Amino acid sequence: MSQGEMVRLVYQSNPQCTCDECQPSLYTRGACVARHLQIHQHAYHTQFHPVPRIVYGKHYEALHLARAAIAYFDRSELGLTSVQKEALDRLRRVFHSRCGLSGGDTVQDGYQLSDVLHMINHLFFFGALQAVIMWAQLIPNRLGQYQPATRTIKINSRAAIFGVGAAEQQRGKLATILHEAMHAFLRQLSCCACPTYYSDVDGAGGHGRAFQLLSTTLKKVTMKLLGTPLDPTGFRSFAYEGQYLPSVHDVETWQWSDGNRW
Ligand SMILES: [Zn+2]
Ligand SMILES: [Zn+2]
Ligand SMILES: [Zn+2]
Repeated sequence: MSQGEMVRLVYQSNPQCTCDECQPSLYTRGACVARHLQIHQHAYHTQFHPVPRIVYGKHYEALHLARAAIAYFDRSELGLTSVQKEALDRLRRVFHSRCGLSGGDTVQDGYQLSDVLHMINHLFFFGALQAVIMWAQLIPNRLGQYQPATRTIKINSRAAIFGVGAAEQQRGKLATILHEAMHAFLRQLSCCACPTYYSDVDGAGGHGRAFQLLSTTLKKVTMKLLGTPLDPTGFRSFAYEGQYLPSVHDVETWQWSDGNRW
């Protein structure tokens, strides 16, 4: 199914939106049996406040978690914390380096996958991710994978699948690391007892509402910070037909178009 077909289907079917803006009652106290922790945004309102400590485990409602992360990374560069700025400087060096790619142990000479994950973790995810990352030989059309049981991110070392030119391949690998880090972030920290867990996190092969919300903003923010977007998803990662149909509100938020554009 193309993005256009999916969008047309969404408009035709007009499924009821279960996001926290359209149906807040699904998210208020009592809707979930678990007690959720909150991430207070004023805690990182400016660069002078410390990064909030995130408690490891499934203690956060998924959309709250996604919005808190967005508030953490989607602000002016001047307002970023010193930890974020350092991670950004290092990520820029990886991104703009012209050394060429290695399909082996490094993303690029001098940069291990774990270095890049560390930068992404601190720039976008509060440094809260706990994951190991490695190269792997995955099936050809799979870019990467996150395995929750072992907290392992695997990046497919068959470099040819990422694109043609060296710069494009580099971007593809960084976007894949970002994509899998988003899976790890949401899977590790989202409350799975919430009635909305399926549509927000687990639906569409893990590319539910929270994932798409994060990815749309990350595309915009990486464009601003790096000069070229790292596109961690868009529609392509969503194309698990029939599992979960997003709402009109969703596709408008994610800016999916019904044209021929993917
Ligand atoms: Zn909605
Ligand atoms: Zn819950
Ligand atoms: Zn994915």
